Amino acid sequence: MENVLYLVIPCYNEEEVLPETSARLREKINELIGKKKIDARSRVIFVNDGSKDRTWELIEELHQKDKIFGGINLSRNRGHQNALLAGLMTVKDHADMVISMDADLQDDINAINEMVDKYLDGTDIVYGVRSNRQKDTFFKKITAEGFYKLMNGMGANTVFNHADYRLMSKRALEGLAQYGEVNLFLRGIVPMIGYSTDVVYYERGERFAGESKYPLGKMLSFAVEGVTSLSTRPIRMITGLGFFIFLISIGMLIYSLVRHFTGETIVGWTTLMVSVWAIGGLILLSLGVVGEYIGKIYLETKARPRFIIEQFLNDENE
Ligand code: UDP
Ligand code: MG
Repeated sequence: MENVLYLVIPCYNEEEVLPETSARLREKINELIGKKKIDARSRVIFVNDGSKDRTWELIEELHQKDKIFGGINLSRNRGHQNALLAGLMTVKDHADMVISMDADLQDDINAINEMVDKYLDGTDIVYGVRSNRQKDTFFKKITAEGFYKLMNGMGANTVFNHADYRLMSKRALEGLAQYGEVNLFLRGIVPMIGYSTDVVYYERGERFAGESKYPLGKMLSFAVEGVTSLSTRPIRMITGLGFFIFLISIGMLIYSLVRHFTGETIVGWTTLMVSVWAIGGLILLSLGVVGEYIGKIYLETKARPRFIIEQFLNDENE
């Protein structure tokens, strides 16, 4: 096997974009095969993440018409990250390099050429990085950039402006396979694998059909997920805060004693109310954060399967 490239595309209710996406990707793969950069057994694999529309039927049709297309049908909707992992783990035994990307082709597929070139030069992981976000709405841009800042500030180190558009070599995928975590945040785990890495810049376009499956709410929970499954910095911050409050309380103790002995004690209703609320709030916040981690431990100890594959359509013959 030599330089076999597999593209992995998670799809959730993508019937509107699949015809166009598949046509463009076929063209791209054939171009690369023509240039002898990749093997003729390279494939495009769509992962159907429990779509409610005709996505899987479309994938089956594509597979029947052209063996360049394959499909993985998950037993139900498991979310983008799990769908992507299911795809990567399934194809890693068939490919030498795998590129993951979204079905809506917001990520410029011409960056694939450069990614493959870097792979051929010996790079194991090539990150696709957005050079600008002019096409995104102002709101999406601000929230998305805030997302990366928040993530890094909280100790979850990720590549800035990189989503899940990346090339990984077979051995990098073997590395990824050893991370058994259920709370999956791929773009945080991939940098932990190591090996040689590089980036490719591209311009992010608009979704050409259908609407975003990642509204603000999902993005926020994704950020919380990312932080709590990658780092324990929030716990440390709480410890720091607790220590700081403790110092203040010692100061207050001395202050009250001094006031008491100089006979200036006043009825401290205000102080009392304020402290009760402040401490109460802090305790609740801390409990929430601790609970967040306990929830994670609970899920990890159960070691539930991260995805279940109902069907894998793939034709490996040349
Ligand atoms: N997706 C998925 N499962 C989900 C939600 C989304 O597989 O539960 C896929 C979706 O089909 C697309 C990719 O994840 O290929 C990214 O979604 P989208 O383009 O809607 O996100 P955005 O680009 O708006 O952040
Ligand atoms: Mg998109």
